[in-house]
Amino acid sequence: MGLSDIQERVEKEAVRVGRDPKAAQLIAVSKVQPNARVAQVLREGHRVFGENRIQEAAGKWPAFKEEFSGVELHLIGPMQSNKVRQAMDLFDVIHTVDRPKIAQAIARIKNETGSCPRLYIQVNTGAEPQKAGALPDEADAFIDMCKELGLPLEGLMCIPPSDQDPSAHFALLADIAKRNGLDGLSMGMSGDFEQAIAHGATYVRVGSAIFGERTYEIM
Ligand SMILES: *Cc1c(COP(=O)(O)O)cnc(C)c1O
Repeated sequence: MGLSDIQERVEKEAVRVGRDPKAAQLIAVSKVQPNARVAQVLREGHRVFGENRIQEAAGKWPAFKEEFSGVELHLIGPMQSNKVRQAMDLFDVIHTVDRPKIAQAIARIKNETGSCPRLYIQVNTGAEPQKAGALPDEADAFIDMCKELGLPLEGLMCIPPSDQDPSAHFALLADIAKRNGLDGLSMGMSGDFEQAIAHGATYVRVGSAIFGERTYEIM
């Protein structure tokens, strides 16, 4: 596999379910991948990348951004409140807004600097204790709060429980987004991005299927 195969599968699945071939955008998840492999995917022309650790992204992306123009960087991992400013500086899109304290910190910095990444709220669709995200029955209120803070909220993100059929989780996320008037759906990874596209994903986050297995795992 590789970038072009995955890009082709993304577009094929969108068309198969009656959507525009570009309806779901591919985020290449480059966490813990060797720089040479990331550079290869950049040279192939891809520009949309995801990282799950702010520190790691800060170490490698400023140089890549200098060498390759038009890079769009997505934060797909958890954020501590003391890292919000750095994350807002580095990333174009944040997928993991998950609690009021983070939303308020983002709003404060947005009001101070006048700029803000595009935002997604992470929903813990499986209500897993070890996972970040707003609980499904708290999502509507949290979405309202983000709207009231004037945040540029684009949609919702989820990571389904690894031991369940992800379809029900994708459907739940799509449902919460729809009833709240949000268009963006960040869902689907290497093993299930086609199912996610069938449920309306607008971003799929694919790592190992593009770059190969990670030598170690950070979640
Ligand atoms: C690592 C990661 C991915 C990509 O996972 P793969 O299975 O390698 O495609 C997607 N989303 C999040 C939040 C991740 O941390």
